[in-house]
Order: sequence, then C-alpha cells, then structure tokens
Amino acid sequence: MLIVQKYGGTSLADGEKIRSAASRAVGLARQGHRIVMVVSAQGRTTDDLIRRAAEINPRGSSREMDAYLAAGEQLCAALTAMAIGAMGHPAVSLTGWQAGIDTDGCHGDARIRAIRCSRIRKELERGKIVVAAGFQGLDPDGDITTLGRGGSDTTAVALAAYLKADKCQIFTDVDGVYDRDPRIYADAVRFGRISYDRMLTLIENGAQVLHDRSVELAKAHAIAVEVLSAFTGAPGTIVGDLESL
Ligand code: ADP
Ligand code: ASP
Ligand code: MG
Repeated sequence: MLIVQKYGGTSLADGEKIRSAASRAVGLARQGHRIVMVVSAQGRTTDDLIRRAAEINPRGSSREMDAYLAAGEQLCAALTAMAIGAMGHPAVSLTGWQAGIDTDGCHGDARIRAIRCSRIRKELERGKIVVAAGFQGLDPDGDITTLGRGGSDTTAVALAAYLKADKCQIFTDVDGVYDRDPRIYADAVRFGRISYDRMLTLIENGAQVLHDRSVELAKAHAIAVEVLSAFTGAPGTIVGDLESL
C-alpha cells in the first residue's frame, strides 16, 4: 500500500515523539508499504516564528513571512528523516517545492494548484520513506508560499490525491474527531465515522482539528481521511463519504 501519514506539531514536539512517529513509518515500510510522511513544524514553532518576526517588523511583507514560516516545517522534515536514518532505514526530506507542490500566489493562504509527483515517486521507488514538509509550496513566480494555519493537513490530503494513495492518515494529539473539543468538554462524544459535510460544519463552528481545505479536497477526490492519535496509533475517526464507508 501507499500510505500518506501526516503528523502535527504536538505529535513531533521533542526527540522522543519524532522517534515514535519515525518508528511507526519504518515498521510499515519494513512490511512492504510505501510511506510518505507529511510533517508540521515542531511544537509551537510557527507561533514562535510569528512572534519573532513581529519583533523585527510588525508589518513584514507576506512574501518574507512565508519564506520564514516555511522553514519550521523544513527543519522538522529533515530531523524526522534523520531519525528514520538512525533506525537503519533510508529516508529523504523534501521541502514543498522539492515535493513538486505548486500553489497560487496568495501569500499566507495559498491554494495548491497542482503537484508534480515525479520526485516523490522516484524516491519511493528507491525504497525511501519520503518526509515532506507540510504547509508550503511554490507560486508561479518561484516564491515560497504557505497554505494558512493548519495547512499541513491540506498538504497531506493533496499528496494522497495526486499520488493516488491507498490510505491517508492524520496523526494528532487527540484520538479522533468529537462533536465538541474534547480538551474543553469532558463529555464530548467521539465519531467512529463522520461525513465530509458534517466535518466541514464542525470546522465552520470552530473545530480546528482539520484544515478546512483538507476536507474540501478529500471530498472532491473521495479520499477517506483517518484522524487518529499519534501517541496510541489506535483506530480513530474516518472522515469520508458515509455511503461508501
Ligand atoms: P495538529 O498539531 O496535530 O495539527 P491541531 O491542534 O491542529 O493538531 O488539532 C488538534 C486539536 O483540535 C486537539 O488538540 C483538540 O483540542 C482540537 N479540537 C477542536 N475541536 C475538536 C473536535 N471537534 N474534535 C477533536 N479535536 C478538536
Ligand atoms: N505549522 C503550521 C501551523 O502551525 C501548519 C500546520 O501545523 O499545519 O499552522
Ligand atoms: Mg492542525
């Protein structure tokens, strides 16, 4: 199987968590699966970068902000690839543009227009785990763009669509999608399955567990997306077309 696995910032916050994600990917690769990991920046890196940039220039250009913020995911991708290497499995980290992700020129909120998959396919054929930096791409002028806060989810679903992946998994710090934020409401109820439209409504009402465009893209390409805990790996919530699930 070709599996796309996305890991959020909290799920990669320190060396131990990076090793845990890396070891899940290596385990699957050793079973014969082809793995593309999509990573967010570690922990609160993006917030820290935004704060630091504001100290230098509170009205910094959106082009420079994108160039700055995209680095968070790149650092994490390289570190994750190194963790995989330390486990004796080949891996390669790719920035958004190395991964062939083309976007429009809307800095800070860019949309993916197309993905040129040849580099990723080549690396997979060489037996490598590909670790793609989430949240970023390149615009028609050749400038770095970012996809909006939480945008690594969209990178993962877009890659799953263009690579025709068999599975798309979003690993996060909760064990699925709930009817309300489980960190705030102790009595929140978890969904085993949820439709794209219900998921989009939850997001509209403030559930930032998935980036809205990732769900729109999943719906457009009929991709079932599993949201699950990076810490347990136990089955989570399938976001999909309920009829075909
Ligand atoms: P990641 O860093 O993995 O992308 P996010 O912080 O973007 O993680 O999303 C996960 C968070 O979404 C959870 O920690 C949870 O507090 C929050 N959340 C809000 N609403 C919901 C919901 N309805 N179901 C699940 N999680 C939710
Ligand atoms: N690191 C970016 C953010 O904090 C993108 C992401 O996590 O998906 O918004
Ligand atoms: Mg997120």
